[in-house]
Amino acid sequence: MSTDPSKLAFNAGWQYAPAPESTDHVTIDEQYDLFIGGEFSPPGEGRYFETINPATEERLSSVALAGEADVDRAVKAARKAYAGPWSKMKAAERGKYIFRIARILQERAREFSVVESLDGGKPIRESRDIDIPLAAAHFFYYAGWADKLEYAFPGRRPHSLGVAGQVIPWNFPLLMAAWKIAPALACGNTVVLKPAETTPLTALKLAEVIQEADLPPGVVNIITGAGDTGAAIVNHPDVDKIAFTGSTEVGRIIQRSLAGTGKKYTLELGGKAANIIFADAAIDQAVEGIVNGIFFNQGHVCCAGSRLLVQESVADEVITKLKDRMETLIVGDPLDKNTDIGAINSAEQLDTIRSYLSIGREEGAEMYQSSCEVPDTGYWCRPTIFTGVSQSNRIVQEEIFGPVLAIQTFRTLEEGLTKANNTPYGLSGGVWTDKGAKIFKMTQNIRAGVIWANTFNKFDPTSPFGGYKESGVGREGGLHGLDAYLRLES
Ligand code: NAD
Ligand code: MN
Repeated sequence: MSTDPSKLAFNAGWQYAPAPESTDHVTIDEQYDLFIGGEFSPPGEGRYFETINPATEERLSSVALAGEADVDRAVKAARKAYAGPWSKMKAAERGKYIFRIARILQERAREFSVVESLDGGKPIRESRDIDIPLAAAHFFYYAGWADKLEYAFPGRRPHSLGVAGQVIPWNFPLLMAAWKIAPALACGNTVVLKPAETTPLTALKLAEVIQEADLPPGVVNIITGAGDTGAAIVNHPDVDKIAFTGSTEVGRIIQRSLAGTGKKYTLELGGKAANIIFADAAIDQAVEGIVNGIFFNQGHVCCAGSRLLVQESVADEVITKLKDRMETLIVGDPLDKNTDIGAINSAEQLDTIRSYLSIGREEGAEMYQSSCEVPDTGYWCRPTIFTGVSQSNRIVQEEIFGPVLAIQTFRTLEEGLTKANNTPYGLSGGVWTDKGAKIFKMTQNIRAGVIWANTFNKFDPTSPFGGYKESGVGREGGLHGLDAYLRLES
């Protein structure tokens, strides 16, 4: 038994009292239409689909299913707004609109946090402290760039592209919308955005914010639907730029269909990042980093630290401490402020995760799950680790997108590096060591877009984000994120 006082309390059966965030201040409409040309209008074919709360399996609302004709209507509205007010407006004025969106988001932050957690299943602590503030920060950051584009690219003349089609996933619904919309607008483009089918509500509430901010009609259009709607945006001939975040599989389809069209594109795809722990690391902090890296947002994170590479001499210590820490993680009601791990986003995603749990055991790995209780209804997965895995195992190679960690050991720095790079992906990584020289050696040689040192999963609007290899094409965030929405003339 542990001698750590907090663990003693835990072992004695001590628990936090429920601390649910109130939902009284939130209204979710019975049904949402398509936001096109500054107004909500019904879909042409009159079809709707439901979005549910994955923690309770209860229906939250019905949202419009946009068909090809609706996509065309949205693109036309975006084109008209581009040709009309938006591309002719003084850049400083454009910036003011984006600032206004940021401020309204801040004012309505509590409401957005609750809706994000209801619709997607993530813990309120994360939506409140990370998703919503970061979304506002992205609008603030890019608002500031709107009238300074010449300074961003000295000696070159920046031009907007036109209409941007944007398709986003369900893991950070509002934040991904902000990542896409803010730089597009700052650079003078107009937008047609489609949120994921399981998490459309905060994007639709963002449409309300855009109305409230009084943006010219058609500058931002938000339409809902599933893969077919996304494909109709991607394949629309009058779209100038595609920004996609989602699975590598769909990313490949999109890349193929864009080849030869002249449309500019950025793709943010999957990942299989390694957290690499050297023996000289501060072990307790490293264990916190591992927990944050893979259990944050139920592991629904493309840059999740889903592999752990730990130096052999400290492997037992790290794994023991990790198991102890896993026992203290609270899985359950996303709206409870004490919850660490919320609901898996959908029944399909839970199926995918479960199939990987079987695959891991069939491959001969040893599975350990924390012993916490999970609710009867809703979609849940206990924090899970696999030890005794080998490099060729599917649970080491493939993206699971759930709270599942594959653990391997290494002896030398070179071996750690080789294992870290032995993946088709290259989105992120983490290095834990006391030695600056090792940090430099590793960060220079790991082929991934973002590498954190002695921390993990830290995001900021000023820093670029994006992948190597099968993790994607292009960068979002920071100065690089402007480049993705501009044509630069020398
Ligand atoms: P997905 O790629 O199927 O969906 C992402 C978005 O693309 C959604 O809005 C979806 O409606 C849309 N879409 C689907 N098919 C499309 C098509 N042919 N053309 C255009 N748009 C299309 O991802 P998913 O089903 O939400 O999740 C499946 C897997 O994707 C996950 O298990 C995970 O591995 C990965 N994923 C990665 C990220 C990331 O941030 N990189 C995010 C979510 C999911
Ligand atoms: Mn939902």
